[in-house]
Amino acid sequence: MQILRLAVISPMRSFFDYLPPVRMAEKAVENLQPGIRIRAPFGNRSVVCILLEVTLSTNIDKSRLKNVLEILDETPLIRRELLELCNWAASYYHHPPGEVIAAAFSSKQRRGLPVSELVDYVWTVTSLGEETIKQGKIAMRAPKQASLLNLISKSGFLGREYISNHASHSSFYALKKKKLITLEKVFPKVLSRSKKQDVALNHGQKQVLSSIKNNIDSFKCHVIEGVTGSGKTEIYLQLIHLTLKQQKQVLLLIPEINLTPQTVLRVSERFDARITELHSGLTDSDRDYSWRLVSEGYSDIIIGTRSACFAPCSRLGMIIVDEEHDSSYKQQDGFRYSARDIAVKRAQIENCPIVLGSATPSLETLLNVRSDRYLHHELTERVGGASLPNLTTIDIREKALSGGLSSTLLRAIKNTIDKGEQVLLFLNRRGYATQLQCHRCGWIAECEDCDVRMTLHKKTKELRCHHCGKSARLILSCPNCGSKNLLLEGIGTQQTEEKIREAFKGTIIHRVDSDNIPNKAAMEKLMESVTQRRPCILIGTQMLAKGHHFPGVTLVGVLDADSLLFGLDFRGEERMAQLITQVSGRAGRESNKSHVLLQTHHPNHPFMQAIVDQSYSTLSKYILDDRGTRDLPPLGYLILMRADSKYQADGEHFLKSIAERANITGDVKLIGPLPSAMPRRAGKYRNQLLLHSKNRTSIHKAATKLVSIGDKITKRNKMNWFIDVDPVEIC
Ligand code: ADP
Ligand code: ZN
Ligand code: ZN
Repeated sequence: MQILRLAVISPMRSFFDYLPPVRMAEKAVENLQPGIRIRAPFGNRSVVCILLEVTLSTNIDKSRLKNVLEILDETPLIRRELLELCNWAASYYHHPPGEVIAAAFSSKQRRGLPVSELVDYVWTVTSLGEETIKQGKIAMRAPKQASLLNLISKSGFLGREYISNHASHSSFYALKKKKLITLEKVFPKVLSRSKKQDVALNHGQKQVLSSIKNNIDSFKCHVIEGVTGSGKTEIYLQLIHLTLKQQKQVLLLIPEINLTPQTVLRVSERFDARITELHSGLTDSDRDYSWRLVSEGYSDIIIGTRSACFAPCSRLGMIIVDEEHDSSYKQQDGFRYSARDIAVKRAQIENCPIVLGSATPSLETLLNVRSDRYLHHELTERVGGASLPNLTTIDIREKALSGGLSSTLLRAIKNTIDKGEQVLLFLNRRGYATQLQCHRCGWIAECEDCDVRMTLHKKTKELRCHHCGKSARLILSCPNCGSKNLLLEGIGTQQTEEKIREAFKGTIIHRVDSDNIPNKAAMEKLMESVTQRRPCILIGTQMLAKGHHFPGVTLVGVLDADSLLFGLDFRGEERMAQLITQVSGRAGRESNKSHVLLQTHHPNHPFMQAIVDQSYSTLSKYILDDRGTRDLPPLGYLILMRADSKYQADGEHFLKSIAERANITGDVKLIGPLPSAMPRRAGKYRNQLLLHSKNRTSIHKAATKLVSIGDKITKRNKMNWFIDVDPVEIC
């Protein structure tokens, strides 16, 4: 008896066994390939499933097996390698396999819709259009359309990537209405030629490249630890070139959607190849289309954020993970995977090299280097001899501060602007003030749904919760005692901006946080302005620390270094060292005298001094040793189980009964149930269990136990729970 083993695209942890469709020949069933979609009955509805295998045995009573309804695909939608990766991820992250495989599907595919013929549309100029160009008729009336028409004529055709990225739909359709251009159906073709010559590498870069080149046909994990501006991206480009020459695809992962324009630009300037972007900013239909381009091998270079680690590449030859330390690679809801770790596993399954690049590699990666699993390459100097910025602290104890700025920092800003250079100020809190308190009775504005204080946003006159997004009108008197004497505490970027605007009238000032720079387009506009190199002051959050190049910045000010010094989490020191190194790295890429000033109340704190005196590469070794003494990751393992419930008792009770039944002993410690560091968020109480062990196998066994018990216990009042393997935050 032939059995079809299926994963249902839904949050169910187990596989399901079914019988083949009624009246399907045995031979035909044998030929069904894993990775095709199948529609199967489930309760009183039908669901889309993926075939995992055709087998002859089942643990289910055979009389209870049902026939599937319909075979949806002839050929697998997902290659064997990718299916293997998904199965690995489902088991490693203790996540329902159907949902993991769904992460590797486009939305159409998930819904079981047919996969249509892959065609592309390009715009071409009609003969009437060519005639119009010759006579210069259109230019006077519609300059935008005229330049677009000229561009299409000059390039022969323009593809749909161009439409969304560079010109508005309306210009295209206006020209179409005038019958000057037309939309033509074409089949995507493979183009991969190199446009520009590779740059001559310096000695250090050459060594890295040749070492990776030696292993280019098989799996090896390479780590490039190169200081900011040391030419890592240039090495990536040459690796891409080598891979394209072999007719293979390159998957380039970047941490942030905001970095795509910059990266795509740099890659597209170099190669005449089809570049496909994969990120959350795509519409469903664009994503479907891109997905097909990748899976059918038309695209050569895939540039994407986290979820692109599942891109359906059909001829993958190289994976590059840029800024591999970045915590954005870890998905923080639903399927909580690390895209970096998945990428490494993927390279292993596909037997291709993978490169993890960063100026500040994660300790996980450095441990793998230490144990010789990964090959380490180091670039310690900046290209062109620019020196790394010089770090000093500003002792702000008892100093007057204005908008969070000391007079020493203000003077330094003035000097820099006077010299015609640019300044970057880092403050990791948006809004105007982080707390509003009554000076008479002590009342504090808190979020109704979370255990946090509301942030004051002055421009929009509101109080906003940065955790659940709830907002309320700004109040002018205390709701408790009616006093109008309200105090603002805790400085956010808006307040710093206000003070900077007062102090530097006439200077260009940009505030760079998610309120002001909400999307990719706004970031592009900002970058355009900043790279014109006029003196300016940038004030921003983390957003500024990530990968962007600001060649004109020669002074970086960190307004509140102390907020990094006392993190809640065991990763605090690592994060601080990474953040300060990355923010500092924005400075002086082309200059020899760039400075980083850290404002602190703790200039003598040993870690503050270490940050100032040591390189990340030295510092990270100490931090790693320290983790070892406490069996903390990466020298120990953590798995977190959290329950979010409307009533505190539900989550607590749920976790308690799991903990009791699981009876975890031996080399795994079970801690909890305990409330999370933020015990309530968005109206839900958060309780957690934490598993901690030095032994990976044991901790996963324990997690399997927790999950299988958790699946069986009835959940009261719509309680949610999840498991997080290798959590990046445990508080
Ligand atoms: P990273 O990625 O390490 O920050 P990049 O690759 O962006 O460094 O290099 C920094 C700058 O130096 C870029 O403007 C890049 O074009 C330039 N560059 C990199 N390698 C070379 C080289 N070998 N010769 C000349 N310029 C280079
Ligand atoms: Zn009051
Ligand atoms: Zn809230």
